[in-house]
Amino acid sequence: METAVVWFRDDLRVEDNLTLADAVSAAETVVPLYVFDPRRRRESQYGPDKMGSHRGQFRRESVDDLRESLQDRGGELVVREGLVEDVVPSVVEGVDADAVFAQTKPATEEVEREHAVRDALPGTVDFQRRFTHTLHHLNDLPTPYDRIDDTFTPWRKEVEQGASVRDPVPAPERVSTPQVDPGVIPSLDDLGFDTPPHDDRSVLPFEGGETAGQDRLQHYLWEADRLREYKSTRNGMLGPDYSSKFSPWLAAGCLSPRWIHREVKRYEDERVSNEDTYWLLFELRWRDFFQFQFLKHGGNFFTPTGIRNVEREWKHDRAAFRQWAAGETGVPFIDANMRELNETGYMSNRGRQNVASFLVDALGIDWRWGAAYFEERLIDYDVASNWGNWAYQAGVGNDSRDGFFNVLSQAERYDGDAEYVHTWLPELQALPTEYAHRPWRMDADEESSYDVVLGVDYSEPMIDVEARFVELQETRY
Ligand SMILES: Cc1cc2nc3c(=O)[nH]c(=O)nc-3n(C[C@H](O)[C@H](O)[C@H](O)COP(=O)(O)OP(=O)(O)OC[C@H]3O[C@@H](n4cnc5c(N)ncnc54)[C@H](O)[C@@H]3O)c2cc1C
Repeated sequence: METAVVWFRDDLRVEDNLTLADAVSAAETVVPLYVFDPRRRRESQYGPDKMGSHRGQFRRESVDDLRESLQDRGGELVVREGLVEDVVPSVVEGVDADAVFAQTKPATEEVEREHAVRDALPGTVDFQRRFTHTLHHLNDLPTPYDRIDDTFTPWRKEVEQGASVRDPVPAPERVSTPQVDPGVIPSLDDLGFDTPPHDDRSVLPFEGGETAGQDRLQHYLWEADRLREYKSTRNGMLGPDYSSKFSPWLAAGCLSPRWIHREVKRYEDERVSNEDTYWLLFELRWRDFFQFQFLKHGGNFFTPTGIRNVEREWKHDRAAFRQWAAGETGVPFIDANMRELNETGYMSNRGRQNVASFLVDALGIDWRWGAAYFEERLIDYDVASNWGNWAYQAGVGNDSRDGFFNVLSQAERYDGDAEYVHTWLPELQALPTEYAHRPWRMDADEESSYDVVLGVDYSEPMIDVEARFVELQETRY
């Protein structure tokens, strides 16, 4: 064929991008296209925006890096703003394309947009979709996605035994783009985002793009050599290297899980192969699990009762929700994590589990409000990973255990010396560990001797947390 348009979505890379590779081999000229669709950042039905400034900036940088990579190969990225179902057909018409190649993703809005684009294309244009964002290919699953187990462990075991991971597809050496106005990449301001805050306490600067993602992998595996201890450090909370931090690049598709897999295997051959190296692949299978679960259950993931139809009385207390979101609950471990999220767009996995459990279990607030807030704030937001993990924590998703996190014992276990809380809540700096996690235990004399007066220097706890966890323990087990 003569000309193909490659509509880039959450696959902002040239390595292991089958959509691009297939278009390049099928067509003489290729028009790579990225569309900034305003619907991706507008307000969600729950109040928060769908995309905040940290992710907005990361995505813009990723598009910029993709443009450079394509230019290095002799091509050009065409950038437009507008509704995808208007823009893609108009570019197709402008270059008289024979086909559109695009990544396909499992969640409701993504599929709707995909169908809208397909339906708006002239019947003569071939619409080709590729499934490119998981470790295991959809067609390689031992059990078809609509019949897979809803519990992770049996699914993982079956996949580990019965499916292999395909080799990454090499980046095309040359991309030949016809004459077309490339368009400018809009500024953050033009896209409607404020410049995100810069905070030196951020675990990483998180620069968007395939180049920065590959640099991160190079650092974490090969230079810092931290994969050999991943399993024992992954529950950390401070610093760049306690975990891989691959998530923002995976979510935007700057890194492909199969490419990471190949590097892990090479590391296992050249350095060490142990439980820790295996565990990174284990976590990538958690990621896959949620992607395939979304294919299986679709829109049911977004209902209050979730995929298992669990009825629970959720509270809709806006004031309490705002305290949680702002990191003003008066429970330091929760507040520190929420402030890290708000300042940097990132929060550790340990932190995410605890703040989610605090919202849904301790406060009993609608889990979808929490998921929508994360959707806005997270730099690594991914629809299936986010809504899947929230549903799981709320007891309406992929697990029938109704567990909760006792955030006080979690704080003492994972932040034993209160370094994390002291980092994100400098107003508690003077407090020794026991009070840094439970400031309400201070008497008035201690408050004045440490110069931390509750209700003045730091919030009073919004609930009696100690009593609440005793109550939860008694009712749940
Ligand atoms: C309430 C809640 C919401 C979450 N929302 C998201 C989200 O929107 N996007 C997202 O990528 N992750 C999400 N996670 C999963 C996990 O917290 C992050 O993937 C992880 O903290 C990212 O840091 P990392 O890359 O250093 O992780 P690592 O520990 O280095 O893990 C490597 C990779 O494995 C995958 N992974 C690890 N844990 C999980 C998990 N529980 N579920 C799915 N994939 C996982 C991620 O792609 C991650 O980059 C959420 C977890 C919870 C509890």
